[in-house]
Amino acid sequence: MPTLLLAEDDAAIAETVLYALRAEGFDAEHVLLGGQVLPRLQRGGIDLLVLDVGLPDISGFEVCRRLRETHGLPVIFLTARSDEIDRVLGLEIGADDYMAKPFSPRELVARVRARLRRHEAAPSSRRGCFELDEEAHRIRFAGHWLELTRYEHALLAELLRRPGAILTRAQLLDRVWADALETGERTVDTHIKTLRAKLRQLDPARDPIRTHRGLGYSVDVD
Ligand code: CA
Repeated sequence: MPTLLLAEDDAAIAETVLYALRAEGFDAEHVLLGGQVLPRLQRGGIDLLVLDVGLPDISGFEVCRRLRETHGLPVIFLTARSDEIDRVLGLEIGADDYMAKPFSPRELVARVRARLRRHEAAPSSRRGCFELDEEAHRIRFAGHWLELTRYEHALLAELLRRPGAILTRAQLLDRVWADALETGERTVDTHIKTLRAKLRQLDPARDPIRTHRGLGYSVDVD
């Protein structure tokens, strides 16, 4: 059964939501603060996040913006005000859906189901020891979904789209850092270095990113 995380500071709402989810057979965990969300996600095992916008420490929007740098899991916002809904509907926050308070717990459960189904059906392609999930912006390696920053993810995804092909630093800068203000070829090297370190942590024996002197980088997926 999927495990959900609920971030909600209102005890009455949290209790109702948790009850409804558990009654439908979901495992549901609960945190009260925005600052508790990322540490919990980092420990793994959460399939969907239900996130209140009005949390006492960090707003749900900020929590979502931060987690989107590394996590592709579906996020359903709980909002209390119409101006919040306007922001949720803006694309940049990265929400998958929202419910306006007061809402019916049954409706929330239906939305949760729909999101999980869609998420599972997202196209994801195997590339040897990697799995690139384009829709959810995540990459699996050695059996684990990688915790990558936005640029690390974009860089590895770019290499994985054509395994074995050598991409020059200029090409990578152009495709991965198109919207960044200050970059140089060192930017690519720095991110390759952190990527390698993260891959090595999961599988020290494999070193799938190849450096081609004077040319650029490629990735081996065999
Ligand atoms: Ca609240």
